[in-house]
Amino acid sequence: MLPLKEKDKIIIKKMLAAGCCARCVLRFCCISVPAAYRQRRQDTLGQLRAFVEAADDDSRESSAPEENDDSGEPAVKRAKVEVAEEEASVCVLCLGVLQHLSDVPQAVKIADAVTKENYEVDSLVLSISLPAQLCVREHSCWLHVKEQVRAKCGLLGKDDVVQVKEAFKWVMQDLLAKELGGVAVVTKSGLEVSVGFTHPETDADCHFLATSCPDCFKATKNKQSVFTRMAVVKALEKITDAKFVKSTPCPPSRVSSSCTPQDVQCAHVAVFVAGRYNKFCRSLPQTPWLIDGERRMESSVEELIAAPVLAAFRADGFNFSSSGREDVDVRTLGNGKRRGGCAVWRRARPLTPLAPLAGRPFAVELLNPRRNRLSPDHMKKVQQTINESSDKIRVRDLQMVSRDAMSRMKEGEEEKTKSYRALVWTLKSIQPDDITFMDHVKDLALDQKTPLRVLHRRTLAVRRRVIHSMSTVFLDAHHFHLRLKTQAGTYIKEFVHGDFGRTKPNLCQLLHTDTDILELDVESVDVDWPPVLPD
Ligand code: ZN
Repeated sequence: MLPLKEKDKIIIKKMLAAGCCARCVLRFCCISVPAAYRQRRQDTLGQLRAFVEAADDDSRESSAPEENDDSGEPAVKRAKVEVAEEEASVCVLCLGVLQHLSDVPQAVKIADAVTKENYEVDSLVLSISLPAQLCVREHSCWLHVKEQVRAKCGLLGKDDVVQVKEAFKWVMQDLLAKELGGVAVVTKSGLEVSVGFTHPETDADCHFLATSCPDCFKATKNKQSVFTRMAVVKALEKITDAKFVKSTPCPPSRVSSSCTPQDVQCAHVAVFVAGRYNKFCRSLPQTPWLIDGERRMESSVEELIAAPVLAAFRADGFNFSSSGREDVDVRTLGNGKRRGGCAVWRRARPLTPLAPLAGRPFAVELLNPRRNRLSPDHMKKVQQTINESSDKIRVRDLQMVSRDAMSRMKEGEEEKTKSYRALVWTLKSIQPDDITFMDHVKDLALDQKTPLRVLHRRTLAVRRRVIHSMSTVFLDAHHFHLRLKTQAGTYIKEFVHGDFGRTKPNLCQLLHTDTDILELDVESVDVDWPPVLPD
């Protein structure tokens, strides 16, 4: 039985007479028991009728027992006829949303849309968007019944009325879960299934609000219509009852069609995969290199990494980010598994020990993934696929991380240190004093004007950066390897060749000769994220 109270009688009578459906009547009776909405609509309507009739019969018996019904039909039969009539018409409040639009066929349609996308999830959240004019109709009905309720038994708060959205979800959650078998329809999940409705027949219902509250309806660029739900709700809060009743029918007018369901939209929140990469090649950009829409290099670090990850998670797309970036001709080495190191380098005395976490931290944001997790074994296989696909890069510690954890990578960007090795050429032959001088540099502050080569994408500024230490390996009279430990964000190439004096001091000034950089490798990016995984 429905948990109806005496005060509900007047609401039921007025609303049924106005052309509201049984579930909308329950909403205005403030019944927040999901089971009441899940029962068959005909049953609910029958029970509402019976509740009102019983009350009428009681009063008739006590006051005028002789009085007979005009039609001469028994009350139960008459109620049945009325139930059938009510069923056939479209509810003036929910415009059909809580009628046939929340029945099994609708659940099947939503379930089909979800199944087609092939998500591997165990839960989803159902969201619904309703035409804005529904708020106007809701307000109109509330005004229509609240006076009578107040006369009888106090207030009917607008917030106590159960929302169409809420009732729709109660009904559909069950039906949808049954159709999807095994997927729970819950209030919080990574997968959001959105159902939208429009109702062109009543689109003009809210237009009168623009005259009474022009402030609420300002045109914005990306909105198709100014009559958004938000704007309408705001206007309804402002408008006086008297003005509202004068401008629009109260109760709402009858309609001939129900809402049109829009395509079901499914979207899974992004998941994040992180790791560290090495780059062994001097002809590989970090991101696709396009000039005037034309590709310059056949691949890129992000594509080599992202393609297998994207496939494993069956995502729609990705965003790649990393702790800094290297130029196309710069390698990112480290971690004691260096490739292509020259003989001189191997003979050199150890200068500063390589950080255990060498390689560059990166993260891939996967958009609308159909799968939201991977077992550690599966993740290892993805890493293997990346590493076997090319000898230009190598990835390690590939793992899932949270969105929050990703900020660790960005935090490290400015304040942490990076280690480099540069192959330097000098015009004058190198003297022992020069080597000694460079080996003793400590915390050398540089002022770097935005380099000419990046001026097209970075704002012009002077940035202060620090070279914490330098050390050298002599190769021949005009070549040496320079290892530098610097603050992240230091432009190394510019420090060596001076960038036409835009970096001060620079190596040319310090050594009193022209110097140039022939090769550059990143040796370590000292950000201790993501965590190291056992091999
Ligand atoms: Zn309704």
